[in-house]
Amino acid sequence: MTSTISQEQNYNYIHIPGAIQPHGVLIALSLSLQIEQVSDNVEEFLSKKPEDLLNQPLHNLFGAEEIRAIEDLLVSTQHASISPNYLKLTLNTPEGEKHFDATVHKSDRIIILELEPTLSRTEMSFVNFRSMIGDVIPQIQQTSKLSDFTRLVVDKVKDITGFDRVMIFRFDASGAGSVIAEAKQEELEPYLGLHYPESDIPEPARKLYARGLLRYIPDLNAHKSNLIPLNNPYTAQPLDLSDATLRSCDDCCVQYHQNMGVSALLVISLIQDQKLWGLISCHNSTPKYLTSDIRTGCGFLGQIVSLELSNQIITEELDYKDKLKLLLSQFVASISSADNFIDALIHPKPCLLDLVTAGGCAISLDNEITLVGATPGVEEVRSLIEWSQNTIDDDLFATDSLPKIYPLAQAFKDFASGLLVLRISRIRRFYILWFRPEVIQTVNWAGAPEPLYQVTDEGNLKPSPRKSFELWKGTVLLTSSPWLQCELDSAIDLRNALVGIVLNKTDELAKINLELQRSNQELDSFAYAASHDLKEPLRGIHNYSNILIEDYAHLLDAEGLEYLNTLVNLTQRMDTLINVLLRLSQIGQTELRKQFVDLNDLLNIVISMFRASRQGENFDIRIPKQLPVIECDPVLVNELFTNLISNAFKYNDQAHKWVEIGYLEEQIQKSVDTTSFVFYVKDNGIGIQPQHQELIFRLFKRLHSKEKYGGGTGAGLAIAKKILQRHGGKIWVESTYGQGSTFFFIL
Ligand code: ADP
Repeated sequence: MTSTISQEQNYNYIHIPGAIQPHGVLIALSLSLQIEQVSDNVEEFLSKKPEDLLNQPLHNLFGAEEIRAIEDLLVSTQHASISPNYLKLTLNTPEGEKHFDATVHKSDRIIILELEPTLSRTEMSFVNFRSMIGDVIPQIQQTSKLSDFTRLVVDKVKDITGFDRVMIFRFDASGAGSVIAEAKQEELEPYLGLHYPESDIPEPARKLYARGLLRYIPDLNAHKSNLIPLNNPYTAQPLDLSDATLRSCDDCCVQYHQNMGVSALLVISLIQDQKLWGLISCHNSTPKYLTSDIRTGCGFLGQIVSLELSNQIITEELDYKDKLKLLLSQFVASISSADNFIDALIHPKPCLLDLVTAGGCAISLDNEITLVGATPGVEEVRSLIEWSQNTIDDDLFATDSLPKIYPLAQAFKDFASGLLVLRISRIRRFYILWFRPEVIQTVNWAGAPEPLYQVTDEGNLKPSPRKSFELWKGTVLLTSSPWLQCELDSAIDLRNALVGIVLNKTDELAKINLELQRSNQELDSFAYAASHDLKEPLRGIHNYSNILIEDYAHLLDAEGLEYLNTLVNLTQRMDTLINVLLRLSQIGQTELRKQFVDLNDLLNIVISMFRASRQGENFDIRIPKQLPVIECDPVLVNELFTNLISNAFKYNDQAHKWVEIGYLEEQIQKSVDTTSFVFYVKDNGIGIQPQHQELIFRLFKRLHSKEKYGGGTGAGLAIAKKILQRHGGKIWVESTYGQGSTFFFIL
């Protein structure tokens, strides 16, 4: 616990060190310009002891003109865009005139005045300024590659400052960084390409860099000058030196650079999108003093570089974003008109892979998995989808190191070290997964990782800056190239487009369904009306034929009598057919009376009726396991089982006939809360040839002559099909001719 606190203290207090660098003096003033604090080196520069200055008004030190200039600078500093702003001040001392470059800024309710001695009395002219950095602007504008641009910048900064080594250091998202450009004295070992862990420039230090734009430490080994008194009497707080140019460097930073052999440091912050993007870091092996003019020039150059950097990066990103957008719109246009959705997702050019620059892709819909490009196998993808269903809440998930969170992925890291999951529908298991292969990276670290903390004499832990800066190679495994935000956006845009297309298709389907329902109903009521009306004239024909047989038989010869008998038989057959039609149209039209039905009870009734009508016959009805309770219309389902069971025995010429009724272990998940069972009625009968297996469900379709197998109308299976359609289910048959048939159905 103690160690954590002291570690935080060390970094979190670097903005209030209570001391400054000794190459200048600091005077902290109240808002009424009374001196509240001074650095302990004032006598050396101002020829006045601290006690002669403290609690005195500032005009005891400077004349009215200087004070007005300080006040003006304070106002302009608050609005200034170029930092630091400074002022030339002259002080009359017993040793003669002394000249200073002064900066002033406000920190909370305190005015901080910093003075650095200078030889020059005149401010830098525009001409000087232009000659220092003016030529670099047109050169920058001519570079088109980030690497050329950064190279130009380090060369220029080295030129202006004369430092031994100038580097551009770029941060990554984690806060670690690498050297992307370097200009150095030949004898120095190169740092270009080296990576630095996040802890080398910890968050509080990065915050100060983001704020200050320029950090200048001319002599890292110089003794600090403490503030007197340590706490500000006006605020009773330690003085916040976040924006003070003279702020002393924390021990950790000093030691870090000393270990590197650095004695002077100048750091120019590079800001992009209001965030610290990187640093121009200048090192010198000996102390190095720069005039305020040069530092102003460097600060200005830093701002130009920041601006141009944004341009370069934004242009690069925009080009890629535009490309993805174009690809997506072409892709969506090509799939929206297609009939087969999955086919459409796989085939078009540009393809799914291009939309996010992936190496492989898997589409999962209703448990069907389709693979494109370099991917893991179907079963591996299935398990991965299972895992993402259980672990990922959002519609979009991306990782560039899948094996680290899903260890099974080690087996297919070559295809899928990076994963992007897009969920379109959880219920239909509609997922698109993109994969990226492992990219084995060699990272050149600046020095081997060492313990970050060391134990102080008091037993506390304090940050321990890296000692060795010799190249240390580390290998990054099980990682793909990272997914960019614009790629994630592209995936989300695709999701929105797909949902739109699916919704349109659903609308179309709903319309077609409605139309179909209407025409089915019309057909049913037509069949009902037609067959109902047919019955009456048929009855007339039948009755008159019977009258003719009974009363006029003596007037006819044998042939005439036979014709009349055939006529009576035909009317009877026609009556049966009309009854079938009536039944069919009735099933189509009447409201379903659904209720929860225990199929065991229902089958008991069907079977006992069946046995009663076939007494003395040798047959066996097996139900291997208890049947479930389902919601259905019991009258219709009774009719369904009756038809199937009677067919099972009717089309059966075995000595020992049997039928088995049951359901399959696998159930069909239709939606979250309804499950469908696949039932079957299996017999050891004559079987059905493959070419007839669909035909038999047609109305009045029989495979045999009228009298064979006990005759029939060819309506039983058509009625069974209609009953199942009404329940939203279906029926089909599997059969081996000569061995038996199994009728499957879903209710
Ligand atoms: P029907 O039994 O009145 O002919 P169905 O519609 O019930 O009418 O059956 C249509 C045809 O399908 C039958 O004529 C028969 O050829 C065939 N069939 C039906 N069930 C079976 C079965 N279990 N085994 C073999 N053939 C069958």
